[in-house]
Amino acid sequence: MQTQPTASHFINGAYVEDTNGTPIDVIYPATGEKIATVYAATAEIIDQALSAARAAQAAWGAMTGTERGRILRRAADIMRERNHDLSVLETYDTGKPYQETSVADATSGADALEYFGGIAAGLTGEHIQLGEDWVYTRREPLGVCVGIGAWNYPTQIACWKGAPALACGNSIVFKPSETTPLCALKVAEILHEAGLPAGLYNVVQGMGEVGAALVTDPRVDKVSLTGSVPTGRKVYAAAAEGIKHVTMELGGKSPMIVFEDADIENAISGAILGNFYSSGQVCSNGTRVFVHTDIKEAFLSRLAERLGTAVIGDPMDPATSFGPMVSKRQLDIALGYIEKGKAEGARLVYGGNEIEGDGFYLQPTVFADVTDDMSIAREEIFGPVMSVLDFTDEDDVMARANDTEFGLAAGVFTRDLARAHRVAAKFEAGTCYINTYNDAPVEAPFGGMKNSGVGRENSKAAIEHYSQLKSVYVRMGDLEAPF
Ligand code: NDP
Repeated sequence: MQTQPTASHFINGAYVEDTNGTPIDVIYPATGEKIATVYAATAEIIDQALSAARAAQAAWGAMTGTERGRILRRAADIMRERNHDLSVLETYDTGKPYQETSVADATSGADALEYFGGIAAGLTGEHIQLGEDWVYTRREPLGVCVGIGAWNYPTQIACWKGAPALACGNSIVFKPSETTPLCALKVAEILHEAGLPAGLYNVVQGMGEVGAALVTDPRVDKVSLTGSVPTGRKVYAAAAEGIKHVTMELGGKSPMIVFEDADIENAISGAILGNFYSSGQVCSNGTRVFVHTDIKEAFLSRLAERLGTAVIGDPMDPATSFGPMVSKRQLDIALGYIEKGKAEGARLVYGGNEIEGDGFYLQPTVFADVTDDMSIAREEIFGPVMSVLDFTDEDDVMARANDTEFGLAAGVFTRDLARAHRVAAKFEAGTCYINTYNDAPVEAPFGGMKNSGVGRENSKAAIEHYSQLKSVYVRMGDLEAPF
């Protein structure tokens, strides 16, 4: 497959190159080989993209929702038709196994395009009668949106931000993570092939400073970031300067509570999905697994048995179920936490080692006897490192589960229906799971509480974050004034 893109950027409906920007090598995580080079956006490229987005937005916002939606739904169809090629590219970009990318990336991007394509025609204001007078509201676009993505789901993030933005009549300039610059360009290509007018979906490459330049530009009305809490703080503060709208999808250190009455096989499935899918590089992962002491040893031994069946290897092989981490840097971060876990007294019960070879492979790793104060229980690792903590009492485990700056997700495994809902209600987290983990259907709101974010992506809730209401007051009779 051709992994070198036609050019680094996609602006005003066409590929654009500018080799004056800093070169960014794209590395295939499974082998460490360079598979493409793109160039960071120069000030001129950023200006071109924002100017194009500004110029195109008004006409797009004036089209009917049905017309806008048709284009998004057509793009969804093209994306599904090309799922194989897009999945292979996603695997090159991120290193995630094809077994995952073929069912979780372009497919979920297509779901977002289809969902928001469907909703576009139904966007309306309301009529508010006030005696003889009345007010009507208009749901209007925000204008130019900037999307900044993390590297773990490059296609999905490009669509989760682009689809609602476009459905509501906005234009967007999207900056992928410098680690995974390839997939968003394909999203732009497909949208334009589906009939999107030029200038509405632009992609520019670059590191944090390109993101920062986009966020502070006065032509920008809204910023949506998927990234870490420290970056979120900076971007949120920069957006505040210009009183811009924001969506912040940030990190997590989510709890998963396994009660003594849980179906152990299902709980272990949840723990595997919530810690080792995408080699643990998922924001909503349930990395603090609280297991009731009555079932702890049974849980750990069965978990180890099941981890032993993971197929670790070439991500392009459809049989492979566990791939490399995205980069050497991310691998080193995870290895650093494994050392901290050992040094702080946690018991390593599975994995813990880098897998020798050219790629950035780390064994699925499990620590038991983890306590709440350990670094591995407090900080987001963003790698395949699970912490198992003990508990016996529901109130106590709830307090410990919520004792974190983060609030992205949380899960509970139990057969007790009342307890499941009681616990879900008490979780301080934006997305909670009962007897499952890490589902993220486009129909449901997704986002964080506390430091994990502001706003919601997906679902009807996203419409609130990509549009604004205008109230129009209509007087039917004469108007009285004091003088
Ligand atoms: P980072 O926070 O490092 O980067 C996120 C994006 O922001 C990148 O495109 C980055 O560019 C850009 N950026 C960095 N600095 C600035 C700045 N000052 N102004 C504007 N943009 C900037 O996150 P990672 O890419 O390392 O992704 C991992 C993080 O993302 C984890 O914390 C994870 O939890 C979170 N995440 C959250 C999700 C959610 O939905 N809540 C989903 C997925 C991930 P560059 O990389 O080129 O420096």
